[in-house]
Amino acid sequence: SIPLSFFGGIGGGAKHGVLIKGGNYLDALKQVDTIVFDKTGTLTQGIFEVSNVCPMDGVDESYLVRMAAIAESQSTHPIAKSILAYYNNISKDKAMQPVQINELAGHGVVADTESEVIYAGNEKLMKQHNIDVPQNHSAGSIVHVAVNENYLGYILIDDVIKPETKGVMRELKQLGVKRTIMLTGDHEEAAKAVAKLCQVDEYQSELLPQDKVAWFDKYKNQAGMSGKIAFVGDGINDAPVLAGADIGIAMGGIGSDAAIEAADIVIMNDEIGKVVTAIKIARKTKKIVI
Ligand code: ADP
Ligand code: MG
Repeated sequence: SIPLSFFGGIGGGAKHGVLIKGGNYLDALKQVDTIVFDKTGTLTQGIFEVSNVCPMDGVDESYLVRMAAIAESQSTHPIAKSILAYYNNISKDKAMQPVQINELAGHGVVADTESEVIYAGNEKLMKQHNIDVPQNHSAGSIVHVAVNENYLGYILIDDVIKPETKGVMRELKQLGVKRTIMLTGDHEEAAKAVAKLCQVDEYQSELLPQDKVAWFDKYKNQAGMSGKIAFVGDGINDAPVLAGADIGIAMGGIGSDAAIEAADIVIMNDEIGKVVTAIKIARKTKKIVI
């Protein structure tokens, strides 16, 4: 038989913009002691903006931006969108379409035009192609740009932390959540800065999508784990982690269809505070079997 009051809990969630896909997730939420968050779009707004363009000596700034825009022209990654918006703002011509694009999750893009190869992405991508990059300690995301293995310089991109994030972390602690952890594919300096501002207990940086899954599985199977583990993400590259968590919570607004499908709980308007709401609803829902 179905515990009737679960319908009350599920209905209560829906009223608050939290879609709970089954009563068993309410039960699991009551026992949650670790919450793992994706960074981009979950703790941050995921609205990226170009904050600086830094060409190498002798490289024309607008050339650097144009090469990056060509490479990113077919990507839907928030980083790509910010570069295209910036390019469209400073230039009259639209970025021409490259002949072939290869987008590498957690790295960036490699674009083949008729006459050259453009690389736009992080240090990992540049290393793969033996392109040296300067040391950088910026807190924002960095997109390095190279053409035919000649390094041109980099574009700095800022994201904004959701203003409520810090308060949410405090409330989760008050509700008895023992650990909050952030996972990100972004570089160490950016991860460190965001983790500090959001006041998550721990963070892991520079993780590829498969590294996030591996890290998560390892954490889950650790000795002495008794409570449940929730994962909160937008699902861009992290649908497998959402599916593997005891409770997968997806941001429904910016989240991908795959994420909404893989999740157990969907937050309709991307408010991180709804994680607190969901736990409170779970606690109030009693399991009355009729
Ligand atoms: P997160 O784990 O923060 O959600 P992603 O897995 O989406 O981030 O991406 C990780 C990193 O890979 C980004 O911080 C960026 O350095 C790089 N990257 C991914 N896609 C692109 C792209 N289209 N252009 C440039 N860099 C990219
Ligand atoms: Mg992501």
